[in-house]
Amino acid sequence: MKRALVMGNWKMNLDYVEAVHLVQQLGVLASNRPLDHVDVVVVPPFVDLRSVTSVVESERVPVGVGAQHVNPLESGAHTGEISAPMLRRLGVASVLVGHSERRQMYSMSDDVVAQTLQAATRHGLAGVLCVGESLDVREAGQHLDYVADQLRSALEGLSDTQRELVTIAYEPIWAIGTGLSASTDQVREMTEHIRVVASSLSLANARVLYGGSVNAENAGAIVRESGVDGFLVGGASLKAESFWSIGEAVDDCYAGRAT
Ligand code: PEP
Repeated sequence: MKRALVMGNWKMNLDYVEAVHLVQQLGVLASNRPLDHVDVVVVPPFVDLRSVTSVVESERVPVGVGAQHVNPLESGAHTGEISAPMLRRLGVASVLVGHSERRQMYSMSDDVVAQTLQAATRHGLAGVLCVGESLDVREAGQHLDYVADQLRSALEGLSDTQRELVTIAYEPIWAIGTGLSASTDQVREMTEHIRVVASSLSLANARVLYGGSVNAENAGAIVRESGVDGFLVGGASLKAESFWSIGEAVDDCYAGRAT
């Protein structure tokens, strides 16, 4: 059985001092309540990465560290951008690719998403491909086709080695930061659909996460009833207790399944 994955996307929150504090709190929570079946990853802003990887390493906090974005190119005249080799050198192991906030607010096209996933995985970073429809698309009944198109566009052309580094996060735009999570039926329908499309692209084993207003209260039911392999968490990842509680809910569910 695959291990679950719970990722905390801090977005543009927490400076490096606050980031270090949060990771240290996660370390305390982890020693009180280890998660046996769950990989936990924090995804801080770029400027926090070095401090966070240092604390994780020196204090042996059992979390991975990811980045929120990466440029598909390796180096050069790209003011304000960060490359995959730079992230690797910092000890960063994974990166979000095509989060809806980057697609919507920073004009990240499907082509750039595909190039970014290519570059990240070519450099050995685990790529968390974010897909998901707007409310208009869902209300028009087009959400399954829409997400299938996003998946095909990003996943075609990856090598076998690159495919092994891919996780897919289903994040309906209307559920992100709204307090209105998708229902377990909606998450289950899309998760099953994503697995079918991913299998047709030779990614049968990729983990599928759900993201969108996940919190300590709804995480257990969603993971139990929808078949996801974990969560991409925004707001609730900014406090150590709420984030770890989500990990615990997933861990409890996996422990139950495992017995
Ligand atoms: C996200 O931005 O990836 C996200 C899921 O945010 P939230 O949990 O706050 O809805």
